[in-house]
Amino acid sequence: MGQDNRPGLRAPQYAEHRGWFDRPMRWAQLTLVENDPGQYDREFWLDYFRRVHADAACLSAGGCICYYPTQIPLHYRSAWMGDTDPFGDLVAGCRKMDMVVIARTDPHAVHQDVYDAHPDWIAVDAKGRQRRHWAQPELWVTCALGPYNFEFMTQVHREIMSLYGVDGIFSNRWAGSGMCYCEHCQRNFRAAYDMELPRTRDPQDSAFRSYLLWRQERLFALWALWDKEIRAINPGARYIPNTGGGALSSLDMKTIGQLSDILFADRQGRHGLIAPWANGKNGKEYRATLGRKPTGGVFSVGVVGSYRWKDSVQSPAEIRIWVADGIANGLRPWFTKFCGTLHDRRWLKVVEDIYNWHHRVEPYLRNESPLARVAMVYSQQTAAFYGGEQARQKVEDHALGFYQALIEARIPFEMVHDRLLDAEHIGQFKTLILPNIAALSDAQCRQLREFVTRGGSLVATFETSLYDEWGMRRDNFGLSDLLGVTYDGSIEGPMQNAYLRLERDPQTGAHHPLLAGLEDAERIINGAFRVKVRATEPFANPPLTLIPSYPDLPMEEVYPRVPRTDIPEVYLRELGKGRVVYFPWDIDRIFWEVLCVDHGKLLSNSVEWATNEERPATVTGPGVLDVTVWRQRDSLTVHLVNLTNPMMMKGPFRELYPVGEQRVRVCLPEGVGAKRVQLLKAGGTPHVVEEPGHITVTVPSVLDHEVVAVDLI
Ligand SMILES: [Zn+2]
Repeated sequence: MGQDNRPGLRAPQYAEHRGWFDRPMRWAQLTLVENDPGQYDREFWLDYFRRVHADAACLSAGGCICYYPTQIPLHYRSAWMGDTDPFGDLVAGCRKMDMVVIARTDPHAVHQDVYDAHPDWIAVDAKGRQRRHWAQPELWVTCALGPYNFEFMTQVHREIMSLYGVDGIFSNRWAGSGMCYCEHCQRNFRAAYDMELPRTRDPQDSAFRSYLLWRQERLFALWALWDKEIRAINPGARYIPNTGGGALSSLDMKTIGQLSDILFADRQGRHGLIAPWANGKNGKEYRATLGRKPTGGVFSVGVVGSYRWKDSVQSPAEIRIWVADGIANGLRPWFTKFCGTLHDRRWLKVVEDIYNWHHRVEPYLRNESPLARVAMVYSQQTAAFYGGEQARQKVEDHALGFYQALIEARIPFEMVHDRLLDAEHIGQFKTLILPNIAALSDAQCRQLREFVTRGGSLVATFETSLYDEWGMRRDNFGLSDLLGVTYDGSIEGPMQNAYLRLERDPQTGAHHPLLAGLEDAERIINGAFRVKVRATEPFANPPLTLIPSYPDLPMEEVYPRVPRTDIPEVYLRELGKGRVVYFPWDIDRIFWEVLCVDHGKLLSNSVEWATNEERPATVTGPGVLDVTVWRQRDSLTVHLVNLTNPMMMKGPFRELYPVGEQRVRVCLPEGVGAKRVQLLKAGGTPHVVEEPGHITVTVPSVLDHEVVAVDLI
């Protein structure tokens, strides 16, 4: 009999092979400190895990400090454990509750005896000095890419797996603590690339470029080694590194997505100017390469910041909004607590409330796929090779600005990895956003061209595709044919006091939909940098034209010398069923810096015009909400996370403020009707208006998080 590839018939086989990974929905992590054994209240923690319905735990086992009776020389045992087995006791307690258990190791630091026995295992700085630990000078920092990890930690991982047969091993700080110049790194790099380790961080320096690749090769080899050794003992177990992230992360997310069966986004909270939607952004970034594989969202209950108060407790409102935004974006919550002895108990009830709700509504959180039709591309190669040490400003700020605009516009969206632009990974989307995705290979440009040929739309900004995958400037945009422009050889900026003129159609007097909400304005502010381009296609009546910079002082001089030009500042094209919008200036980056409401409107209008179809869910009402839309097996959900708060752009939240009535118009999938509609937070049956193919649900109020759940028939 031939293989039947109809999707419904393949699913059970997939289910059999997917192991334990999809089962846990709520994670608990207790990271023991060295003096916990014999002092902390183990039964309290096991009882807490039970009370919060945690179905998986991550427990401290070994590495820098070992919490079980290891037989491996130089594997440092907690001085407080005596003859006991603190790790084994916790594992047994969790197993009694049928929890998945993974062991935590941390290989980044060692004690003096390791240094004495194997000085070559210690990391070395650029000046050739072995590195003491920056926070605890009695310890030494290890080299991640040499024999300490490849040999010693391999033994440790084997021992943990042989003794306890846990479901996986999770390592923190496994990837090193900055560049290492030890003898092994020097020799191995020379052997691989025939050059000396770089002394600069310039991505155009061939040694540094090679180093970025070599470091990844070493770490992926280490991951593969540990995973192989672990599986040889327990085939169902996995090695799970603490790794991954967005454009600024250093290990290739496409490879990470392929290697992982499960992964955890370790973004414990926000500090400084991190927006509360940043946790959801992690969820989207991980999902871009992991697809439906489960991803946990590691959150701290404490204050997160560079001063590292690990024993602190955060405000309940801040914990709630951070976790809610992760859940709304597909992350399974994982609380992390350092130290088994509690110095402040205020967080316990907060996490218990979140987890108990999560447990109660679990079937509606077992998402099968997001229903967003818009996706934003992120590009690690653009950050590494075009952005270099300025990647935060030159790359990530563009993405953050566009992200904020999409949140304000309540447009459901996903993120996409630039190395996964094939039809399988982007076919579900109508519109791709390219926020200054400067570095793209010819092959990636070809994939984007094919996407548009299939009817997809693009919104691109600034230097998108002006560089190749190594960050080398091209003579012209790789996407010149789609954008309809060529590069004119220079970039102007920073521009002081430059504007945009808003133009109507000269025949009809109407405004282009791009200018919706700006009809009463004749001009708005420009960005700070613009790429000079030349149109290769006719662009009739561009809705935005340049008003060049003019003096901003003395005040008597502040009048436009050139009040009007015919230089477009947006290029709009219709190509078959697809549409392409190109802003040749830094609209998204300047939006993140200045947050001018007009730029936010232009960004969201550009996505609306390019997408040219109804959203999967349209939410109208006051406030700032993160809106996500999901399909489960038998239901559909719309999450509303209420970010409206005076502390939105700089936390922590002190208090949650409810927003008033929201009308949620949901498109039902073809051929499917709504059986029952619930509000999973507020409870009860909301007011629902049904029309063919749609329902409109009235949500009276949202405090922090509401989920409209629609059972389908
Ligand atoms: Zn080294």
